[in-house]
Amino acid sequence: MHKTASSLHIFNSLSGQKEPFAPIENEQVGMYVCGPTVYSNVHLGNCRTFISFDLVYRYLKHLGYSVRYVRNITDAGHLENDADEGEDRISKKARVEQIEPMEVVQKYTVDFHQTLAAFNTLAPNIEPTATGHIIEQIEIVKRILKAGFAYEINGSVYFDVEKYNASNHYGILSGRKLEDMIHNTRVLSGQNEKRAPQDFALWKKAEPQHIMRWPSPWGDGFPGWHLECTAMSTKYLGEQFDIHGGGMDLKFPHHECEIAQAQAINHKSPVNTWMHANMLTLNGKKMAKSTGNNILPNELFKGSNPALSKAFSPDVTRFFMLQAHYRSVLDLSSDALEAAEKGYKRLIKGVELLSDLPESKKSSVVIDEYIDSFYNAMNDDFNSPILIAQLFEIVKLVNRIQQGEETLTSTDIEKMQNAVHSFVFDVLGLTLASKKDDNEYLDKAISVLIELRNDARSNKDFDTSDRIRDELLAKGIQLKDGKEGTTYSLSS
Ligand code: AMP
Ligand code: ZN
Repeated sequence: MHKTASSLHIFNSLSGQKEPFAPIENEQVGMYVCGPTVYSNVHLGNCRTFISFDLVYRYLKHLGYSVRYVRNITDAGHLENDADEGEDRISKKARVEQIEPMEVVQKYTVDFHQTLAAFNTLAPNIEPTATGHIIEQIEIVKRILKAGFAYEINGSVYFDVEKYNASNHYGILSGRKLEDMIHNTRVLSGQNEKRAPQDFALWKKAEPQHIMRWPSPWGDGFPGWHLECTAMSTKYLGEQFDIHGGGMDLKFPHHECEIAQAQAINHKSPVNTWMHANMLTLNGKKMAKSTGNNILPNELFKGSNPALSKAFSPDVTRFFMLQAHYRSVLDLSSDALEAAEKGYKRLIKGVELLSDLPESKKSSVVIDEYIDSFYNAMNDDFNSPILIAQLFEIVKLVNRIQQGEETLTSTDIEKMQNAVHSFVFDVLGLTLASKKDDNEYLDKAISVLIELRNDARSNKDFDTSDRIRDELLAKGIQLKDGKEGTTYSLSS
């Protein structure tokens, strides 16, 4: 294990406090993160959450922990509006596109993997699917029924929240009070087979037209969305494990229900540290598939979304996200991405200069203090913005060494190189892929063409100006004339 000046503290959503992190098993960490529901292309908001947990995974590994990282694929059971009624999201897509549900699942699982690989996120150790764990889910439903915390009605099984709450605390994670929930939901619930509106489905009876169905002791049906995460996390990480993560919007009801299900059968809290990553917004509103307020990663990489002035590389986008703390809301805009691009380039340039520094007999600064500041930042609840600020301090130091204002011994230079490389590439997960940034050279080449076109236009040589525009378009580069001048996007 790495010896660091401070020790890792993580903000636990369960206690609302930063707590010193100590795994259940010495140097092993079990971490479960709720994965995507694969019924459409993953958007940048989803990517932010997975990049946040990629940072957590990378830093735990950097500290020397052996981490078992489990992230599921939701390929059944997640109904529209996160509700207990309505169509399964995947079945609905299959119906609309007239393909098999498993074709929907395959298509969007591939998209998810390709997108996360573009962002240089590490693959989890286990990536279980909900449909691959129907037997485990049925077993848990049986156990919850046996424990007396669920009831069967018309082939469906529901969790009895009020009964559970009599001897446990439903709302322990979200801070919601059952009385308020009862009060607020009663009005909304119409005719419903549930005994109480706050109860949630463990198993749902499949109507004849429902395609994704499995036999069970209660007839043909499908599992509830909350149940799959309890089944898969327990199977691979045990009844009690270290970290459970997901986006902030999953805290209630999804994670609250996970706690209730596990507590009901194991009589102990399933997770020591609950972590929730905050939302990526666009125009101040949460990015979401359902509202259409979102940008797809490919639109960003190609600059093809009208909200963007140009294309941005995956590295720049990742850097942009890591410049905010994972628990803060982050708003995406062209201006913010452009600023991040400048920062990313400055950082990478600084890293490159590190390999070519003059050596001295004496160091004029204490390099360990700089390196400690990296650990202090990350040990403080994975504070990547502070880490990045500290890395910029190194860039400044490098410049001062080049100017002859500071000196470092060869040993210290090597120490600094190793630490900076570890934090920039292994922990932050940035790469040099954008160094010879195609976009940068393309930007420059196209700006020359845009200038020539402008000259031709002012000389009223419209044959030439139209030719530049049309031939670029034929090659998949579209010029866009706007108030602020001409920009371009790539169409393929
Ligand atoms: P879903 O596929 O909708 O189940 O979402 C997958 C993950 O993305 C979950 O952890 C969500 O909390 C997270 N998520 C959804 N929208 C956003 C957003 N706008 N910003 C950050 N994370 C999000
Ligand atoms: Zn989940």
